[in-house]
Amino acid sequence: MILKGFEELKGFLETPKNIVIIGHRNPDGDAMGSTLGLKHYLDKKGHQATVVVPNEYPNFLHWLPGSKNTYRFDWQNSQSQKAINASEIIFLLDFNALHRVGHDMQSTLEKYPNDFAMIDHHQQPDDVKYMYSDVEICSTCQMVYQFIEMNADLDLIDDAIATCLYTGIMTDTGSFRFRSTTSKTHRIIADLIDKGAENDKIHNKVYDANSYGRLLLLGQALSNLQIFPAYKTAFITLTEEEKNKFDFQKGDTEGVVNYALSLKGIIFAAIFIEDAEQSIVKISFRSKGAFSVNQFSRNHFNGGGHDNAAGGKFVGSIQETVQFFEKLLPTYEKQLNSSYEE
Ligand code: 5GP
Ligand code: MN
Repeated sequence: MILKGFEELKGFLETPKNIVIIGHRNPDGDAMGSTLGLKHYLDKKGHQATVVVPNEYPNFLHWLPGSKNTYRFDWQNSQSQKAINASEIIFLLDFNALHRVGHDMQSTLEKYPNDFAMIDHHQQPDDVKYMYSDVEICSTCQMVYQFIEMNADLDLIDDAIATCLYTGIMTDTGSFRFRSTTSKTHRIIADLIDKGAENDKIHNKVYDANSYGRLLLLGQALSNLQIFPAYKTAFITLTEEEKNKFDFQKGDTEGVVNYALSLKGIIFAAIFIEDAEQSIVKISFRSKGAFSVNQFSRNHFNGGGHDNAAGGKFVGSIQETVQFFEKLLPTYEKQLNSSYEE
């Protein structure tokens, strides 16, 4: 755990400040929940906080309290720049390095004259002035709760804050099932329910909001599944053509990689998704046990994340990506076969 400059930050925030809060590109439930949860908290403390989102986020998160008042850096660029220029500090949430916001926004942040405060749970974070980093914690939303706790402000948590934080903890833990889910996580979740998070409604809004196209895309993804029992590995591919055929929307592929990991005996799963807009293949990796997909992705796919959930990219076609991936597997045969005891 790294806690840097906390007392100084507390002092800085003693008088009302103009604040911008940013999550990573392709925001997920944890990025949206933590940025919005922190915004509601800071507003309650008398600050003026604005959430700036790098790009589009999934439809199943659009109901989150406060999401309508966020700026999207890619298509509300002048408002976003204005908010950033007017701010006295920027909070960076749920990411560990400036490049994770995407190229254009990174350039803007690199010119930022004031200080950054990072709250994040990814490995090997960049150094900024104020830091709260803990790779053991399941989600940035849990860290925002603990940040509020460190400020002795838990009684300020209202239903909006509770709803945002509940959502990110739920999505980043696969609904409270991953190894990172601790008794403390459950105690925090219990408190968030007491403070107004309607757990059944949140689950419903996030998980039961599928379009017909999304289910058909899932069907396509599952029929593309390939299994390598010798390496306890399975992967899924999706081409741009397949995405278009089923009217792909942002967020439609979220969680699909977990189906590959749900196969009995599989401890390493990947999904390769063609992204014509960026001319890359975007990859999600998942694992069970000691096999670190963070390290694997850093080593071979220009990415990173956590030990059991990471992302990366490859410049080339889907076929080339798959060939490159398959060639790597024998090197990891021993590690893959000793990673996880059932
Ligand atoms: P997902 O597979 O759900 O997109 O991401 C899994 C985890 O890896 C998330 O915590 C995400 O922030 C991180 N991640 C995804 N893509 C990248 C990437 O390209 N680089 C790095 N460093 N982390 C990534
Ligand atoms: Mn997260």
